[in-house]
Amino acid sequence: MPLMKSWVESANLASTDFPLNNLPCGVFSVADDAPRCGVAIGDFILDVAALEAEGLLSLADHPVFDVPFWNEFMELGSEAWADFRTQVTAMLAEGASKRWIVEDHLVPRAGATLHLPFLISEYTDFYAGRNHAFNVGSMFRDPENALPPNWLHIPIGYNGRASSVVVSGTDVRRPLGQLKPPGADVPYFGPSKRFDFELEMGAVVGRGSDGPVSVAEADAMIFGYVLLNDWSARDIQAWEYQPLGPFQAKATATTISPWIVMKAALEPFRVPTPAREVPLLPYLREPGPMLYDIALEVGLTPEAGAETVITRTNYAQMYYSAPQQLCHHTSSGCAMNIGDLLGSGTISGPIRESRGSLLELSWGGKEPLPITGGSRSFIEDGDTITLRGHAAGDGYRIGFGDCAGRLLAAKDLPDWAK
Ligand code: MN
Repeated sequence: MPLMKSWVESANLASTDFPLNNLPCGVFSVADDAPRCGVAIGDFILDVAALEAEGLLSLADHPVFDVPFWNEFMELGSEAWADFRTQVTAMLAEGASKRWIVEDHLVPRAGATLHLPFLISEYTDFYAGRNHAFNVGSMFRDPENALPPNWLHIPIGYNGRASSVVVSGTDVRRPLGQLKPPGADVPYFGPSKRFDFELEMGAVVGRGSDGPVSVAEADAMIFGYVLLNDWSARDIQAWEYQPLGPFQAKATATTISPWIVMKAALEPFRVPTPAREVPLLPYLREPGPMLYDIALEVGLTPEAGAETVITRTNYAQMYYSAPQQLCHHTSSGCAMNIGDLLGSGTISGPIRESRGSLLELSWGGKEPLPITGGSRSFIEDGDTITLRGHAAGDGYRIGFGDCAGRLLAAKDLPDWAK
């Protein structure tokens, strides 16, 4: 599909994340306005709450956009999702007849504050990247036992905390936790010294389920995708993770991009998962391509210094797709709700320059990664980590906006913890 031309000139640039083909969903406010739903188009945000109030955008018998989340719109179902794209596309396309009215509801993105785009119901994070699982397993155990025996059969995950999810631009505080360094006889309580990021995609569930669903049904339940940084305290993780998996190591924060890219915008970029090393059980087999060709990168910017891009990889590297993960998640009868968020797992490519975490990039701190003006084993106070991603079309790209967070120094140890 070629670029769809808009009368919003900045939406026609090959460099924008937000051409007419994209129309991602966010929540914004300007000055002291109440946060409400908006759609990114070029350098602007289309105020869909205002359009709805004027009767120019009609999808239901009640308003759904004058709220600080997209959950009510998701609730309308997939026909309304498609109808919405048709209506908004017609308003913004070159030669649109209502341009003179719509123009009044374009807000410059530069002056707007972006908020979490949806109410997160529950958050589950997976471990579905083969390169990442092999690398981490090699470090935490050994290369012979790197992949757990279930890994090639099940998309492994853990139940995270919805309360940990924050929008891009939110500062993250270095966590305190219980630590037991290698060789130490006893644990102690203090700031994490091995704080890390994980480059992931998040799938947003837009339709609930009550009972097991197929992979095809799971795909239909997904509303869209975001970039996701699963901040991880590796030293807390190493001490706590057996036998029940990550807990406090992953509970500090999870940053997502401010824009949900609807599945419809990503359709031209579908790709199949890589070849299976062992056949999957029938319930997990993909009826069609369910990953996406999305180029990803991570930048690290020290407090006083220039950004270094420290990794480049692609979502197509994942071994399991989000619909496979969602299908497996429901297999026990686990109900899913609108607003559930599924983290893909860390997206690492096959070579060093494509690894999706500092743990892997510095190989557990043994090989510090060179950056402009220094090096890093793990994240230092004041560093900003920025995830970016886009699918590349013919003369345009479908992007997510930056998914960024800055690490603040740990708070002093409270008296009750000394
Ligand atoms: Mn993760």
